[in-house]
Amino acid sequence: MPGAATFPTSRTAVLTGAASMRGIGRATADRLAAQGWSIAILDLSGDDATAAAETISRERGVQAIGVRVDVSDQASVDTAIATVEKSMPPIVGLSNLAGISSPTPFMETTVEEWDKVFATNMRGTFIVSQRVLGGMIARRLGRIVSISSISAQRGGGTYSKIAYSASKAAIIGFTRALAREVGEFHITVNAIAPGPIDTDIMGGTLTDDRKAQLADGILVGRIGTTDDVAALTTFLMGEDAGFITAATYDINGGLQVS
Ligand code: NAD
Repeated sequence: MPGAATFPTSRTAVLTGAASMRGIGRATADRLAAQGWSIAILDLSGDDATAAAETISRERGVQAIGVRVDVSDQASVDTAIATVEKSMPPIVGLSNLAGISSPTPFMETTVEEWDKVFATNMRGTFIVSQRVLGGMIARRLGRIVSISSISAQRGGGTYSKIAYSASKAAIIGFTRALAREVGEFHITVNAIAPGPIDTDIMGGTLTDDRKAQLADGILVGRIGTTDDVAALTTFLMGEDAGFITAATYDINGGLQVS
C-alpha cells in the first residue's frame, strides 16, 4: 500500500457551521488559522461566513474564505466545496460542526422537526464528508472531525431532547464505519462529544444562573468554552494525530464518566 502523503505546509481546513460569532466553529477556525491552516468557513449565513473569514484572514495572516452553504442540500454543498477547491490550497481537514438543537419533548415532536434535525446534523455530515473525501482519497491524506454531543451518550439531559440525541448518536456510528473504509488512504475520522459549552445554541446566550445550573455535576465545576473544544479539534486535525481514528473523544469536564 502506498504511504501517506507528506502533511503539506499549505493546506485548507473546511469548517461547516463556523460563522456564528460565539460558536464552537468560529473559535476552531481561529485556532486552526493560528496553526497555519488556510480556512474555509461554510455556513447557512453567507454574510456571517464571509465576515468571519475576513476577520480571521486579517488577524492571523492566512488565506480564508467564507461560503454560503446548506449542508443538508447536496447541490449547495457541491457548489460550495467546488469554490473552495478552486481557490484554496488542498483540503486536508474537515470539521462537521453545522448543527441545530431540538428541545421538543418526544410526544410533541413532528416528523417535519425530526427530519429537519437529522437533515442538518446527520445528512449534512454525510453529504459534506462524501464531497470532500474524493480529493482526500486522491491525495491520500485527510482528517475528519465531526461534532457529536454528550447528549448522544446520556440521552439528552442538557437542553435538547430525542431527535437531537438520536442524530448525534448517529454521528458516532457514521464516524466508526467511515473510519474503516478510508483508513487505507491515511484518512482519519473521529468524533468529539462535548458537554455543555458556552454558546448560543441552547436557546440563546446563557445567563450566569443558567451556566451555574448546567455546571451542576461537572467535575471541574464549570461548563466548557469554545476554546476548550477548538483545542481538541485542532489536535485531531494535526499531523501528530495520524494514528487516532474511529475514536469518540469526551470533552465534558467529567459530566459523563465512561
Ligand atoms: P451555533 O448555533 O453557534 O453554531 C451552529 C452553526 O451551524 C450556526 O452558525 C448555523 O448558522 C450553522 N448551521 C445551522 N444549520 C445549517 C445548515 N443547514 N447548513 C450550514 N450551516 C448551518 O452552535 P454551537 O454551539 O457552536 O454548535 C456547533 C456544533 O456543536 C453543533 O453541531 C452542536 O450540536 C454541537 N454541540 C454543541 C454543544 C454546546 O453545548 N454548545 C454541545 C455539544 C455539541
